Amino acid sequence: MGKIHLLSEHEIHKIAAGEVVERPASAAKELLENALDAGATSITLRIKQGGKKLIQIIDNGCGMDRDDAYACLKNHATSKISSVDDIEKIATFGFRGEALAAITAVSRVTLKTRGTENNVGLQLTINGGTVVDESIVACPVGTDIAVEDLFFNVPARQKFLKKDETEWRALNHLFITCALQNHCCGFSLIHDDRTILQAPAVKTALERAAQLLGGDIAKDLLSCSNRYDQLGLSIEGIIARPNHHRYDKSHIFFFVNRRPVKNHKLVQALIKGYNNVLPAGQNPIGIVFITINPEEVDVNIHPRKEEVQFVHPVTVERCIHEMVQNALNNDVNLTTQVAPFDKATNISAIPPKKSFIPAKSWASITQNNPLHPPQKAPQSCVECSTAAQPDHPEFKTFMTSSTGHLQAIIEPSYTLLGQLLNTYLVIEHEDSLILIDQHAAHERVLYEKFAERFIENGSTQLIFPHIIKLNPEDALILSENLSTFAGYGMEIEPFGPQSFAIRAVPVYLKSAPFDEIVRSYIDMVDGDKNVSQEEFNHILHEKLRALMACKAAVKAGDRLTPAEMHELIEKLMACEQKTTCPHGRPTMYRLNHHEIEKIFQRCG
Ligand code: ADP
Ligand code: MG
Repeated sequence: MGKIHLLSEHEIHKIAAGEVVERPASAAKELLENALDAGATSITLRIKQGGKKLIQIIDNGCGMDRDDAYACLKNHATSKISSVDDIEKIATFGFRGEALAAITAVSRVTLKTRGTENNVGLQLTINGGTVVDESIVACPVGTDIAVEDLFFNVPARQKFLKKDETEWRALNHLFITCALQNHCCGFSLIHDDRTILQAPAVKTALERAAQLLGGDIAKDLLSCSNRYDQLGLSIEGIIARPNHHRYDKSHIFFFVNRRPVKNHKLVQALIKGYNNVLPAGQNPIGIVFITINPEEVDVNIHPRKEEVQFVHPVTVERCIHEMVQNALNNDVNLTTQVAPFDKATNISAIPPKKSFIPAKSWASITQNNPLHPPQKAPQSCVECSTAAQPDHPEFKTFMTSSTGHLQAIIEPSYTLLGQLLNTYLVIEHEDSLILIDQHAAHERVLYEKFAERFIENGSTQLIFPHIIKLNPEDALILSENLSTFAGYGMEIEPFGPQSFAIRAVPVYLKSAPFDEIVRSYIDMVDGDKNVSQEEFNHILHEKLRALMACKAAVKAGDRLTPAEMHELIEKLMACEQKTTCPHGRPTMYRLNHHEIEKIFQRCG
């Protein structure tokens, strides 16, 4: 008997369908586009179990009559083109006429639709592509399509679907992108019977961005634009002030001639516009709409047209970079921005450079932080004070401030020469000059201490719970990760829609910027998707520890007293990993005698 046999048409259709519909988000994308093509001004997307159980789209568009409702299920059925020649001209999103056929082939669909000319609606039940029931129903003009049990008849495809949460995130991202792209249409998003988002139609993309990004960010959005007429290029941007940022790039959206696109170079141009105003490693939040002469852009480099290539990429990138830079420079509020942590802990961001003021910063940290109990009168250290010192009150203090304990750690002793730029501790040690980055050093100290303190001190109940309000996407992530926080002594409970109450925190974090810690954590969870649960927990725990250390550490620009500097040096030297901060930055830099001689050309 021959080994080759022909697949039935039904099987071929199912395989082809899998190419069009890869996952819930790709099915939802087709359905959303159809609803928009039908002229809907209000669209509801209902999702169950990450779209595996249900993807339902309810629109108030033009709907379909009976003939069209049947026709739309057939392959290559479309009302949008009539000949191949139309393909180039077509302005609507889809043109293949195969999306509905593909979706219905691999799921159980209930299609309820009523055309503008009809008094009643029609309901079709379709099982794996076959209509199994038809009835007349009362419904408003528009279409309501419910796609259940995606890939129920293609187990091989079903296996490739990711976890519910992952599929849900892709759906959520799609929804946000679609809602940003179409601000004139109202959108609602419901997941597992919970309303996640409601964004009524608005007049501007800025208003839409504000609806979607959530309360905190909305008030810090800036509109900007730029143009370059020779390329028919005009750019509109909505960017967040640099006090909002994320570890990942999930809040950066680009549209070219109204289509969402991915393009690494465009993202880099946006980030470049934020040069020097975002913390290292952080990404901005921005939505950029690019309109350009179609001849200046190639949209056919990706099968789903998600990527684009420009004929003059450098010009486009420069236009974006310039636009962002100018918007930030012109934004008066920029100068008043102080990181929330600075306020919370009374750290004056940058004290005047020249004047010698007693350091409040360290005191406030030590008071709030059991790692640094207020210092007892420090013992004097003969060896530390032997080197000749300038006759300055500041130096007098530190000459008597070092603790004897230090000698056990650094052999031989060091001499503290002072603080440079309120940022670096300058030390003479053996034949070397050592610079210590005070922030990096303190971060390292706290990072190593935090590991013990989590266990030692447990948490403390806050007298007034701290309430934090998040956008729907972040709220979901947080609600899924409350146990990780609990493991760190942070007791967080849901507190109404999208809000959470922080009720208890580790003792040493009593006055830390909770919002920021929670938000940064969410960004991290969002960014790290492809690791095992165990690995994931480990990375997150490490990151959280580093983050807490970073937040609580003394900052560059903080004036330290000699006693504080000595304490920091002592603690750093006691660390297991003293040479780098938890993020991998060096804590100290050594310039030895030989290197110094080379600088002054004293050696041959
Ligand atoms: P395409 O969108 O490429 O035409 P689809 O398979 O997605 O192909 O849809 C087939 C046809 O079904 C559309 O051309 C349209 O006429 C009709 N249709 C699909 N969804 C809707 C809807 N939500 N409202 C009205 N008509 C629809
Ligand atoms: Mg379509």
